[in-house]
Amino acid sequence: MTRVALVTGGTRGIGKAISLALQSAGYKVAANYCGNDDAAQTFTKDHAIKAYKWDVADHDACQAGVATVVADLGPIDVLVNNAGITRDTSLLKMTIEQWKAVIDTNLTSCFSMSKAVFPAMTERKFGRIINISSVNGQSGQFGQTNYCATKAGIHGFTKALAQEGARYGITVNALAPGYTETDMVAAVPQAVLDKIIAKIPAGRLGHADEIARGVLFLASDDAGFMTGSTLSINGGQHMY
Ligand code: NDP
Repeated sequence: MTRVALVTGGTRGIGKAISLALQSAGYKVAANYCGNDDAAQTFTKDHAIKAYKWDVADHDACQAGVATVVADLGPIDVLVNNAGITRDTSLLKMTIEQWKAVIDTNLTSCFSMSKAVFPAMTERKFGRIINISSVNGQSGQFGQTNYCATKAGIHGFTKALAQEGARYGITVNALAPGYTETDMVAAVPQAVLDKIIAKIPAGRLGHADEIARGVLFLASDDAGFMTGSTLSINGGQHMY
């Protein structure tokens, strides 16, 4: 039986690597995105994975988007909540709009997307929900009160939903990447990035493929006894 995987923010960066890894492993994959139509079209053309456009910060759009994917590919076995944004600035300068945009996109999306797939997973007695957190949700980071709050919130959400899902054969885990070469990190000024890399014992940024391999494991049958956990893939930047 071919399993169906849905990856939010699945057309660029880490999400793209996750979509491709799942496809290579034999999953039917749907990749969600929000604004970058050019990237999504190129992704679909190059990799034969359909891209579905909706804003994961919009609860109703998530319910409608999942219904469309299910109509196309069948019930969703694996949900990867990967879509995320940054609106970095110190608390002194942060506006309520910057705060809310990040909370809605990074955290409320996990609720809305999980809510959309969870009932069918309980009926089918199988599911994998993988929430992409961040090393900065574990350690904190100057200029990221909004982002760090969402990523730390993901850990609490993951542990609570893991307890609700376990009796139905649904596992819920978080994966916390360290700094990884994507457009998101390209936006960080080089001088800041150099200081960050100096603190990574591995001495380099991560590759999106390295994060995707962790997702592949969490989605697999081999990870069936692993739930409510956080898999950290960060080059040793933060250990606990
Ligand atoms: P990118 O900015 O490279 O890609 C983000 C993806 O998310 C894009 O596909 C984008 O769609 C999509 N997206 C953004 N907002 C929305 C939205 N409202 N609705 C639907 N899709 C949306 O990010 P990364 O690949 O770097 O990051 C992926 C995840 O990994 C994020 O959750 C991030 O916080 C996390 N992470 C990243 C790290 C890094 O160093 N890169 C480190 C730790 C965690 P579109 O193409 O349409 O804009």
